[in-house]
Amino acid sequence: MLRDIDRVLIDRQQIASRVQEVARTITHEICGGDDPALVEDHEVTLVPILTGSVIFLADLMRHLPLRMRIRLISVSSYPGTSTTSKGVTIQSSLDSLGQDLQGQHVLLIDDILDSGRTLHAVRELLLQRNPAWVRTCVLLRKLRPEAMAFPVDYVCFDIPDDFVVGYGLDFDGYYRNLPEIVTLKPQVIENWSTRTPTGKPGSPA
Ligand code: 5GP
Ligand code: MG
Repeated sequence: MLRDIDRVLIDRQQIASRVQEVARTITHEICGGDDPALVEDHEVTLVPILTGSVIFLADLMRHLPLRMRIRLISVSSYPGTSTTSKGVTIQSSLDSLGQDLQGQHVLLIDDILDSGRTLHAVRELLLQRNPAWVRTCVLLRKLRPEAMAFPVDYVCFDIPDDFVVGYGLDFDGYYRNLPEIVTLKPQVIENWSTRTPTGKPGSPA
């Protein structure tokens, strides 16, 4: 797996300190400060988009000191070996949330903002539930016009418009466990369909 990495874009220390910083900003915005008395009086519902945001969610939520619940939502836009978006399919319905979000503070969390289609679609669904407050938070935003024009409230990192994996982000379901944000060698993506039955990609040319 490690031999497939081309370049490390963001290392684990950079991720850890930035996630903590963004969590502090979110806490301040929801609670009006991080004084324990203020924090005690506030609550948030986190809506992470599966599966790419799970590691980000796990780190971010441990830096949010207020009461919280999690409501998962599953969206597919990069099925299988695609490295470009194939359109948004929401697989789990927000109906399963019942009236839970009415009047609530809701934080929508995704791994990466690319075209903005995913966040747009999920945000529209959330708004139908009449929450009191909705904000969107992404770990990564690609430096491409559609992403930069999309209104998002919290961004941890802006990155070049390359396909990245690691820290929850996958290629064909793999590489989510890499602790850093990396690019893959072009040969890995090109040779993926000829990988051996063990699941390993074919040898890079
Ligand atoms: P959007 O709907 O903004 O085009 O794309 C957002 C979704 O596409 C993300 O939740 C993520 O699943 C996927 N995605 C976009 N860019 C990348 C990328 O560079 N790497 C990976 N692994 N997934 C990406
Ligand atoms: Mg995703």
